[in-house]
Amino acid sequence: MLPSADFPALQGFHRMDILKEKIYAGRRIGHEEAPDLFRWPIIELGMAADFRRRLIEPGDKVGFIIDRIVNFTNVCEASCAFCAFHARAGRIEPYELTLDEILAKVEELVTIGGTQVMLQGGLHPRHTLETYLAMVRAVKNRFPEIALHSFSPAELVYIARRSGVTLDEAVEGLKDAGLDSVPGASDLLVDRIRNRVSPKKITRDDWCGVMDVLCRHGLKSSATMTYGMGETLAERIAHLEVIRAVQDRTGILRAFIPWSFSPAHTRLEDVPPATGIDYLRVVAISRIFLDNVTHIQAGWLTEGMKLAQIALTMGANDMGGVLTEEVVVKAAGVINRTNMAELIDVIGDAGRIPVQRDSDYREIRTFA
Ligand code: SF4
Repeated sequence: MLPSADFPALQGFHRMDILKEKIYAGRRIGHEEAPDLFRWPIIELGMAADFRRRLIEPGDKVGFIIDRIVNFTNVCEASCAFCAFHARAGRIEPYELTLDEILAKVEELVTIGGTQVMLQGGLHPRHTLETYLAMVRAVKNRFPEIALHSFSPAELVYIARRSGVTLDEAVEGLKDAGLDSVPGASDLLVDRIRNRVSPKKITRDDWCGVMDVLCRHGLKSSATMTYGMGETLAERIAHLEVIRAVQDRTGILRAFIPWSFSPAHTRLEDVPPATGIDYLRVVAISRIFLDNVTHIQAGWLTEGMKLAQIALTMGANDMGGVLTEEVVVKAAGVINRTNMAELIDVIGDAGRIPVQRDSDYREIRTFA
């Protein structure tokens, strides 16, 4: 037999074989092994991810939720280079919604049977913890049945600092007022990239610290990944590694949502947009790597419905929200819309069973 050490190509084959064996045995893969997955043929990678999806959540159900994002202001001190939503990007005039305007939007959602609201805003220089408490109380007093999956780690750190309270105090106050959970908007948890594209936003360690505080207060969260901002493949894996470690420690992440960066109308406009195959690879690799996160969401909002549907065969097991209103991605010129009927069709056409779920991923209605 040829000693593979003398032949680098054979070493590569050997490494792949070990990796495949590990994946199909349901074992955890290391961060040093994961970059090899970017070189797998896409169909093979997708099948391996689907296998891992079935190990984590057997069956064919795919969830979706009827929800709405209410972006209550686009005034933001951070002015991130990758964001087309904040007022200084010049796409949307500066605005702030009043409590009455916020309540009117929530009412529209309730009328169509929605169950979750995501209040999110920029880092507004006049907003404090009191501003946020007022929003939570107003929504919860009027619509106690609505799940408030709201704000972001960056907003929580910002308002705590501005209000002279600890993060623990801010989170405790918001929870007592009615906040149910917090979307873990993570961007890319690599400080080399963050320093370049969002230097005024929280650091990777700040994000992890927020997750620890949420865990202490019994609040669930999620994690996202915005890739395609000039990072290396190893840095994409480093992002996943941070999330896996946080989940090992806290168990609070209900879902992981990867999406590609939309460069149009941002200060990074010359960055080439990620391709469809790149997206499917990220979904599949996330499914294989994040063995401790149950739900991987297919990103119809940024990638379009057709690609999101294919993602359901390559590791994704949730379609996220109907999102009756969304302005942040739209500001970057990406306009995808959907409704419940379309999601049911698309999921069914992928050979899966559509399920309307709540924020805790409990089934509300199955469309068999
Ligand atoms: S991404 Fe968020 S923090 Fe950054 S500029 Fe946009 S609204 Fe502000």
